[in-house]
Amino acid sequence: MAVVVVVGAGIGGLSAAISLRKGLAPGHQVVVVEREMVQGFYPSLLWILKGRRTPKDITRSLDAIRRRGITLIHDTVQDIDMARRVVKCEREQVPYDFLVLAPGAEHAPERVPGLVDVPVHPMTSGSARTSGPVFNLFSIDGILGLRGALETAERGDILVVAPTGPHKCPPVPVETAMILDRVLRRAGKRKRFSISVFSPETLPFEAAGAAVGRTTVRAMERRGVSYHGNWHLEAVERGRRLAVFTEGRVAYDILVFIPPIRVPDFVKQAGLSSGKDGFLRVDPHYLSLSTMDNPRGGEDRVFAIGDVTDIPMPRGGSVPKSGAVAHLQSLVVAGNIAALVSGKTPRRRFSGLAMCVVEMGDFPPVTIVGNFLSQSGGFRVLPRLRAFTTVKQLVERNWLRERQ
Ligand SMILES: Cc1cc2nc3c(=O)[nH]c(=O)nc-3n(C[C@H](O)[C@H](O)[C@H](O)COP(=O)(O)OP(=O)(O)OC[C@H]3O[C@@H](n4cnc5c(N)ncnc54)[C@H](O)[C@@H]3O)c2cc1C
Repeated sequence: MAVVVVVGAGIGGLSAAISLRKGLAPGHQVVVVEREMVQGFYPSLLWILKGRRTPKDITRSLDAIRRRGITLIHDTVQDIDMARRVVKCEREQVPYDFLVLAPGAEHAPERVPGLVDVPVHPMTSGSARTSGPVFNLFSIDGILGLRGALETAERGDILVVAPTGPHKCPPVPVETAMILDRVLRRAGKRKRFSISVFSPETLPFEAAGAAVGRTTVRAMERRGVSYHGNWHLEAVERGRRLAVFTEGRVAYDILVFIPPIRVPDFVKQAGLSSGKDGFLRVDPHYLSLSTMDNPRGGEDRVFAIGDVTDIPMPRGGSVPKSGAVAHLQSLVVAGNIAALVSGKTPRRRFSGLAMCVVEMGDFPPVTIVGNFLSQSGGFRVLPRLRAFTTVKQLVERNWLRERQ
């Protein structure tokens, strides 16, 4: 009997666990270790901002996955003993034959002075809605606080700021600005607000090439939203309401930030940090910690997927941290582990092909397709059809159904 342990039950981890359960004979065990019993579907946070969802609509308890024949361990991983093949948690030690690491990336607002006391927990709404006009977009509290601020404000300058370094979901700053435009137009007060995006990227979605970035900037400008590329946030002076960039200071009335990220502590503790910023370097196609040339050997039993990985792209930069990538990678890893367990050759590969639907407020989304791992990338923008929003809704519905 093989024991496959998955660390993290987010977008990539749970999808891997469900696929493994389907692909493995009942005698084999699938174990998920997760520290948060309540999970939320991150991409739908922006629909809360839009007024289309409530926090309850997009959060689920993980308990339901036990009914799928998956063992759920509610614990926090602290280290991994690769030699003994044991995942060391706060309370338990969990042995494995195969291991899938899917712990995502930690939010690290403490990297920017002035952001540290803004609520950071992504999915649990608490009392901290008092952070004033500075809002963490990647948390339910931040989104609810921002909605409240938009209802009461009559005029002002709104900044949407992407951090220096990688962050989750590269299109989020643009999507947020366009949703803010929509919300303010509907409230009949758009003309009294400016909306600006500040980002270290020269153009939005650098990973997809300049043509895609220019198309997106044009679409933003048509709505009076400005894009400022090559700006690097250093600090926020809350008292004076100033965002301090390397390039200059900008006053704000409302500041919305996307938090910087860092690699989870246990990855460093286990000595696995091997890529940019300490994230995990894996084989780009097989997602193993070493190559599949020797599929039976040592670390080929350890795979990593999703935001915790750092996969260099042939054209420079790293594969973006996105749910779509985490999901596709989960299917590859699950299929290959199922093959290895039954003595077959693992044949699935992550091709790098991905699609990204970028919300544009009241307008049809900008949908981008391309291949992160090909030399040319070949990224292009598909016709602007509302049907692509339906694709996103179907992904959300599937995520919620998997947790019922
Ligand atoms: C506001 C927002 C909007 C987004 N929109 C989109 C979008 O439209 N499309 C898209 O493709 N992507 C989007 N993303 C990005 C997407 O959500 C992430 O890229 C995706 O969730 C990464 O999946 P993952 O499985 O790697 O990590 P996660 O989904 O973050 O899951 C990691 C899990 O591991 C657990 N964990 C971490 N450390 C430990 C530990 N030590 N012990 C136990 N458990 C641990 C965490 O609690 C978590 O549940 C968005 C993200 C945000 C925040």
